[in-house]
Amino acid sequence: MRILVTGGAGFIGSALVRRLIEHTDHEVVVFDKLTYAGNLSSLMSAQASARYSFVQGDICDAGAVANALAAFKPDVVAHLAAESHVDRSIDGPGAFIQTNVVGTFVMLNQSLAYWRGMDEAGKAAFRFHHISTDEVFGSLGEDGFFTETTAYDPRSPYSASKAGSDHLVRAWGHTYGLPVLVTNCSNNYGPYHFPEKLIPLIIIRALNGEQLPVYGDGSNVRDWLFVDDHARALQAVFERGAPGETYNVGGNAERKNIEVVRAICGILDTLQPRADGKAYADQITYVTDRPGHDHRYAIDASKIRAALGWEPSVTFEQGIEQTVRWYLENQDWWQEILDGRYATQRLGVAVNG
Ligand code: NAD
Repeated sequence: MRILVTGGAGFIGSALVRRLIEHTDHEVVVFDKLTYAGNLSSLMSAQASARYSFVQGDICDAGAVANALAAFKPDVVAHLAAESHVDRSIDGPGAFIQTNVVGTFVMLNQSLAYWRGMDEAGKAAFRFHHISTDEVFGSLGEDGFFTETTAYDPRSPYSASKAGSDHLVRAWGHTYGLPVLVTNCSNNYGPYHFPEKLIPLIIIRALNGEQLPVYGDGSNVRDWLFVDDHARALQAVFERGAPGETYNVGGNAERKNIEVVRAICGILDTLQPRADGKAYADQITYVTDRPGHDHRYAIDASKIRAALGWEPSVTFEQGIEQTVRWYLENQDWWQEILDGRYATQRLGVAVNG
C-alpha cells in the first residue's frame, strides 16, 4: 500500500510511520506543517528507508494537498494532523478550528477529487482514515464506557473541533461515497511524546528537580494506551476495517491522574534515585484545576477486538516503565524542545479569557 500520513511528524503519526517502515512493505509519505508539535527527529529511523518520503505542507492549503495526492498517489490517507493539546485550545482556540475543522474539510475535498479520478479498482481500495479522540464523547461519571454509538458531547475547544471534523468525515462518506474510516482513541503515552502532555511533563520536571503539578485533586480518570499499540490498531483499521465504520480504540487501563504521577515517581525512584535520597513524590503539588476539566473517559474497545482481532499488547505498568526508560535514555530529543520551543510552563488557565 501507499500511505499518505498527515501529521506524521507528531507523536502518534511518527509512531505509525516508524511501525509501517519497520514492520511492513508499505510506502509512506509524511505530509506535515512542522508546527511546534512536529519533530523530524522522531522520524530518524524511517528516514533511511527508500519507502519513506516527507513533504512539508499545511492541510489548510488546498493546492499543497492536491499536489501531494497527485504526486504520491496514495491508496490510504491516514489523517492525523491536528492541534492536539486541550490546554492550548483554551488559550487559543482559533488554530484548532482552522487546522482541525477547516483543515479536515480541505483534506476531504481534495481526497474526494483525487478519489474520483481513480480507476474502479483504485476507488474500491481507497480509504480516508480519520484519527480522532474519545474526548468527543464528553465526560463520564464513575461508571460506564464510551461505545461507537455514544452521543457526541464535546466540552473543550479541542474536543469540539475534533467532533466537528468527525462529522465532516462521516458526511463525506454518506454524501459523496468517499470510503471513510474513523477511529476514536483514548489517551496515548509513550516515547517521543511532546513535553506539554502529562506523562512526559511529569518525567522531565521530576528529573529537573521541579514541582510536579497535578490539576485539581488528581482524581480525573483517563484510559491510557501505549502509542505503539495505537499504531497497530490504526494499521489494522486501514488495512482491514469496513468503509463507513467507526472503531473505538482504548487501553483498558483506567488510572486517576494522581496514580499516573505516583507510578512515574516510583519508577524514577528505582531507575534514577534522587541525589538527596528523598522520594520523587515529594515534588508533587496540587494546582488549580483545568477550566472545564472532564472527569472521566473510558473506552469500550470490544468492537475492534471482535471485528479486527486488535487488543493492547502491553499493560499500563509495562508501558509506563518503558516510557520512563526512554525519556532517561533520550534526553537529547526532549532537551532540544525544552531549549527551543516549550519549557514545561503551565498552559490553559484561561485567566485573561
Ligand atoms: P501531535 O500534536 O503530537 O502532532 C500533530 C502533528 O500535526 C504535528 O507533527 C504537527 O506539525 C502537525 N500539524 C499540525 N497542524 C498542521 C497543519 N495545519 N498541517 C499539517 N500538519 C499539521 O498530536 P498527536 O498526539 O500525535 O495526535 C495525532 C492525532 O491523534 C490528532 O488528530 C489527535 O486529535 C488524535 N488523538 C490523539 C490522542 C493523544 O492521546 N495524543 C488520543 C486520541 C486521538
